Order: sequence, then C-alpha cells, then structure tokens
Amino acid sequence: MIAYLTRRDFLRASAIASAALLSGKFSFGQDAAPKPRWYKGNLHMHNQWSDGLPLPEQAVAWYKDRGWDFICPSDHNGFQSADLHFTSFGSKPKMTDEMIAAFEGETSLWKPIKNPNVENKLEREIVDKAIEELGAAGVKIKEAGGMTFVRMTPFDELVEKFVEEEKFLMIPGYEHTGNCVDKRAVHMNFIGVRETFPYNKKIEEPVDQIRESYAQGKDRFGGAPYLFTANHPMWRFYDVNPSALMGNPAVRIFELINNGIHKDFKRRNDLWEPEKFWDVVNAWRASNDQELLLGMGSDDRHDYSGESKGWTKVRAERLEQNALFAAITAGDMYASNGLDFETLEFDGKTLNVKIDVKEEGPYKIDFVGTKKGYDPACKVVQVEETETTPDRKVEMYSDEIGAVLESVDGVEASYTLKPDDLYVRAKIYRADDDPNLRWKTKPAAWTQPYRA
Ligand SMILES: [Zn+2]
Ligand SMILES: [Zn+2]
Repeated sequence: MIAYLTRRDFLRASAIASAALLSGKFSFGQDAAPKPRWYKGNLHMHNQWSDGLPLPEQAVAWYKDRGWDFICPSDHNGFQSADLHFTSFGSKPKMTDEMIAAFEGETSLWKPIKNPNVENKLEREIVDKAIEELGAAGVKIKEAGGMTFVRMTPFDELVEKFVEEEKFLMIPGYEHTGNCVDKRAVHMNFIGVRETFPYNKKIEEPVDQIRESYAQGKDRFGGAPYLFTANHPMWRFYDVNPSALMGNPAVRIFELINNGIHKDFKRRNDLWEPEKFWDVVNAWRASNDQELLLGMGSDDRHDYSGESKGWTKVRAERLEQNALFAAITAGDMYASNGLDFETLEFDGKTLNVKIDVKEEGPYKIDFVGTKKGYDPACKVVQVEETETTPDRKVEMYSDEIGAVLESVDGVEASYTLKPDDLYVRAKIYRADDDPNLRWKTKPAAWTQPYRA
C-alpha cells in the first residue's frame, strides 16, 4: 500500500525528523555529521512582488552574487505564488473580463507598469533596465486594456533558478504589514510560510497587534516550523515601545538592525535606540523567568543601490531551512552591520569573543548587561509633533538597564557572568570616531544575550 502524505503531514514529519537529528536520536556514519559553520543571511527584503524596485530575479541575484548564503524574499502581505493574479501590495489595476481573457493559460502575478490609472513602483525605466540585464526572454510582457503587464516570477521558479545545495538557499515568507488605528506601523515577518492572512487594522495598541498576529499565525502555520519576527520597532517614529514585547513573551526574535528603514529615520538623541529597547525587554524577561529576546540583522532592502548594512550570521550544521530555524531559535546567531566574529563561544558562564579582523582597527568590545535589582521604572515622554514627525509617547527607562559592564580595547575578550548579572551580551565595533560613520552604519556586530 502506498501511503500518501498531505503537504502539512510531510512538513510535520520533516520537522520531527530534524528535531530528532538535533537531539541526536538518529545516528549516521561519521561523515554524515557536518561541523556547524556560519551562514550569512537576510530574512527581510522586498522586490516588485510588493514595493521593492528590482524584478524578483534581480533581487535574488543581488544577494547570491554578493555571497549571501540564504534569503527570504519577504514581500509585503503576499507570498510569491504561481496562481494567476493581478492585484498586489500597492498595485490594484481594474481588470475587465476581456482583459483577464488575454491571460488565459498564464500563471503568477502580472503587474501593470505604472500609468495614470495604477499607482505602483513599477516604472517603465525599471522594466527597460531589467530587459537590459535579463534579456528580452527574461522579462515576460503582455498588453491588455491599454496597459503593459510584466510577469513576476513566482517563488518556486526562483528556487529552480537560484538555489544550490550548500551554496544558496531561499526560504518562503512574507512581511505582515499594516498599522494600528492611529497609524503606528507594526510589521512582523512570517518566515517559512507560503500563505498570508489579512492584517487587522482595527487594533489600537501595538502590543495587541503583535499578540493577535502571533496567535493567528500560530493557528494557521503552527503545523510546521516557521519564524515570527517583530520588525523595526523604531519605524516610522518610535512606533513600537519596549512594553509591546514585554507583553508578548512568546515572541522570540526582533529586528535589532534594519538599515533599510533607518536611512530616513528622524532619530532623536534623547530617545531610545534599538539596543536599549532590546535590553529593556531582556532585563524584564530575565527577571520574570521568560525566554530572552533574540536580535536579528537585516537590510529590509527596497532600493538596491548601495551596499548592504545589515545581516544575520547563523551557525548551523547545514544550509537547510529546518537546521537554520533550529539554530536561530537556539540563539546561535548574531546580527551585524559590518563586522564578524572569529570566535563566539558561551560555556554557560563565560562569553568569549574574538573579532574577525579584515581591516586595520582600532576595535573595541563592550560587554553589556543588566544587574539584578535594577530600577525597572518607566517614564513616558510625550514627544510633540514636528513638521516631519508625529506626536508620540515614548517609554524611557533607567541607565541601569543595558549598562556597559566591561569595555575592552582590542579584538579579543571574555566576560564571566557575576552572580548579580541577569544576562550579558557583547558588542564589537570600530572604535575610531569618524563623524562620517553614522550611528547605524558604524561597523559593529552584536551577540545574543546569555545568562547562567
Ligand atoms: Zn516593515
Ligand atoms: Zn520590510
């Protein structure tokens, strides 16, 4: 008898198999146990499937050509499915039956080039440039109802074209995009999924928005491993406060580094930065016996000019989705906007790090943490509206949270947890005070927080 598995059953079976692998319940010959290595990835980016500028092939090639090992093309509110459709994030052409008939037998998203009747990011010059780069056969075009439509290559065709074993991996997913009633943006990535669900814009508070999205995701996607990340809390203007993640202890990952959105961000020196946000949440979690919040780096790339200033390195046994997810969830990863670790080890007590030096220094290593008995008081600062920023209530916390416990000049250092440390994390960075290096692009890398 042949046993047919549904896709969901298959995914569940593979998840169980990989969990068994990780727990060592399966045994293979010596050769089958690869040594873990660092893989470079980005799980947050956009292309013309939503509002990123390049066509899908150009976006994927951008990362593969520059040495990224894995990516998730996480477009806004849509998975890159092969079903024939015309509406996508920010692009809603009016389609008559006659126009639809012109696409008989076709698959995937056909997006019209921007015109007086459709507002979107697909400018004619983008399509011309894509034809130049990919060749006329690489860009499928059709005319209908006086509009020019371009076919967006679906995820599975991109996988066929780009994925190579142990060289390049593509993970499906999307960015659950929207805002609360008062327009505060609360974005979250679902990574490892091939479906989406509608964003609820009737919710008033970010904490509830995250809670509902997390719960709905668990309902829909919970049969197989996937990742949920809380994205760019600073954007557009301190829209998500630390209490939103203190109130959602099940959320394990947030975006510490997002250099796509930080470019036009109106930062204020007197308010929190993502690192402080992180420490506030983790001081609370560590004191309340919750799992610590992990920090991820990404570039949330929309415009593909310029270099990338945000990625995550994950230490996994192989370049495969479940192995990466297991390593990420276990916190075996770090966020970077320019530097790398040569050594990153925590033995349960001592955190030992060494910078992988590619350019002459000077370098510094800060061990950052929070002590037991810290002052948990939160002061809400009312920030008044300006011409470019909305009014905002911003949560501010004591300097005892996320304090520098030890700072070392050089490229190698270690820190042993003291009995009164709630957790410790390390930050490596270039120590020269170049005023041209802005706060978010100054080369650095961040370990996860560790506790005894
Ligand atoms: Zn976003
Ligand atoms: Zn995004």
